[in-house]
Amino acid sequence: MYATVESDCIGCGSCEAVCPEIFRMNDDGLAEAYVNPVPSELEEKAKEAADMCPVDVIILE
Ligand code: SF4
Repeated sequence: MYATVESDCIGCGSCEAVCPEIFRMNDDGLAEAYVNPVPSELEEKAKEAADMCPVDVIILE
């Protein structure tokens, strides 16, 4: 599974709070997925983070 954050991130920080192993905030205050591919043991957490994103910009595929 690969995680990407699309450009419409509003920088709420939720994904980093839920799954800091995969998501972090960059210098612009926006989220990025910094570990790819997502390790299998973290897939559920990454899905949780995607589900909680208020603007649905986390893509898992
Ligand atoms: S949860 Fe969504 S909007 Fe919030 S920081 Fe993460 S990608 Fe951006």
